[in-house]
Amino acid sequence: MLYDSFDREHLWHPYTSTTNPLPVYKVSRAEGCEIILENGTRLVDGMSSWWCAIHGYNHPELNAAVETQLKKMSHVMFGGLTHDPAIELGKLLLGIAPPSMDKIFYADSGSVAVEVAMKMAVQYFHAAGKRGKSNFATIRSGYHGDTWNAMSVCDPVTGMHSLFGSALPVRYFSPAPLSRFDGVWDENDISPLKEIMKSHHDEIAALIMEPVVQGAGGMRFYHPEYLRQAAALCKEYDILLIFDEIATGFGRTGKLFAWEHAGVEPDIMCIGKALTGGYMTFSAVLASAKVADTISGAEPYSFMHGPTFMGNPLACAVASASTRLLLSSDWQVRVRAIETQLREELRPALRLPAVQDVRVLGAIGVVEMKKPVDMASVQKRFVEEGVWVRPFGRLVYVMPPYIITSEQLGKLTSALVKIAGEL
Ligand code: PMP
Repeated sequence: MLYDSFDREHLWHPYTSTTNPLPVYKVSRAEGCEIILENGTRLVDGMSSWWCAIHGYNHPELNAAVETQLKKMSHVMFGGLTHDPAIELGKLLLGIAPPSMDKIFYADSGSVAVEVAMKMAVQYFHAAGKRGKSNFATIRSGYHGDTWNAMSVCDPVTGMHSLFGSALPVRYFSPAPLSRFDGVWDENDISPLKEIMKSHHDEIAALIMEPVVQGAGGMRFYHPEYLRQAAALCKEYDILLIFDEIATGFGRTGKLFAWEHAGVEPDIMCIGKALTGGYMTFSAVLASAKVADTISGAEPYSFMHGPTFMGNPLACAVASASTRLLLSSDWQVRVRAIETQLREELRPALRLPAVQDVRVLGAIGVVEMKKPVDMASVQKRFVEEGVWVRPFGRLVYVMPPYIITSEQLGKLTSALVKIAGEL
């Protein structure tokens, strides 16, 4: 039995209907790079559970970190208390973050991290006596999460603006850069952002962007020069730069964090997803000392945010274990090997009539179709081929755990090319 009738009747799944839901497959276990369905079918995982499970599933070291911490305490409030898991993780993160980062705010999920980052930017200018600077600029085709302010900076077309339109704060959107990551830089790409900043810098607190890789908003890889020029504009117009590295962090693009492709350091940075190796929800917002000190230097002399599960010890413990595991592994070699294999094995998809584009960066492979795919039928085909790939819209893509073997990756890419050929 692959589907569950209670689930179908009562459980809401992401982005689907309750009356006519898309099918969901029942999983009994996950191990290494495989998801095992209740009927015993083993699927090679191409999604890392949405960018998270970089070390694969059921990892002994990560399990041990959770178990050890569980016996001490699973949670205590972070108001007025602290603990080793939070302190150790903080030390680890500052050691790998951009040098400009100095303070860490632990949050619950990626979307909440984005909310926190945006609140920091607004409170920074409030404290600096520039209260008019409370809006945001961003680029189209971005995705920053599903909460209110995060939604407001997602792409207005592929995001949820049409639905929540008048209820969403109105932001400044610049076209997404057209210069490809590995292509020639076109100076015209930056002009619209320059124009927005020139005309509206009095209102703009921060520019928020996913550096280099735009994930759920379009799976686009853009030229690092855009980041360098955007950062220079931010300096010129006294606008903070927020990097959303929630998807790109922890080695996915071939660098530990994507800002390294451009050498541009942000004022505020959001991380999440692979932070806990996919074990549980957790995120962090890193900020420069200037941002934090300015906020702390004026009424109400503290940053106004404090989630119940802030600094959750279990999450901190597994995040430290996952980060240590990554840093002690040969992740660069693995990501490079995945990249090379994805490039070679996805290239044939370019010749297929239904395929618009094929692109690869780090451990991310994208086959962009000319038309949106029918999710239910395509998903079923992938399961029949023994792989777990979840397309959206016109995008069929993979970002596997770094531990994937070349044989498993070959299974993923051949299923992808085969199914793209059937569309
Ligand atoms: N920012 C980016 C770049 C993301 O990819 C995501 C999740 N897809 C988020 C923010 C939101 O994270 P979460 O789903 O954990 O709230």
